[in-house]
Amino acid sequence: MINKVFEIQEKKKSGEISTTKKQKWIKKWEPHKHCSVCGVAIAMDKEDFCSSKCSGEYQEWKLEQEKKNKRNSIMMFVLMGVMLVVMLMVTMFSR
Ligand SMILES: [Zn+2]
Repeated sequence: MINKVFEIQEKKKSGEISTTKKQKWIKKWEPHKHCSVCGVAIAMDKEDFCSSKCSGEYQEWKLEQEKKNKRNSIMMFVLMGVMLVVMLMVTMFSR
């Protein structure tokens, strides 16, 4: 079981190495941009990502950010509500 997990990790590692190797054909002086996820150099006419793996990771990240933003705005809303209630209570009891 442990061996299998290790094997998968090794496979992942070697896969990453091969993608970076593949990207090395881009000459340094050629106009290029970098993959938005892993920072590997990619050709200008390509998408913002070096591979579908990275674009998938970016989509996941974006979804995560959106979820976080939603959660934050809900938290803010709740906090505002609580503050309002507290303020109302304070004004009511101070009378
Ligand atoms: Zn990448």
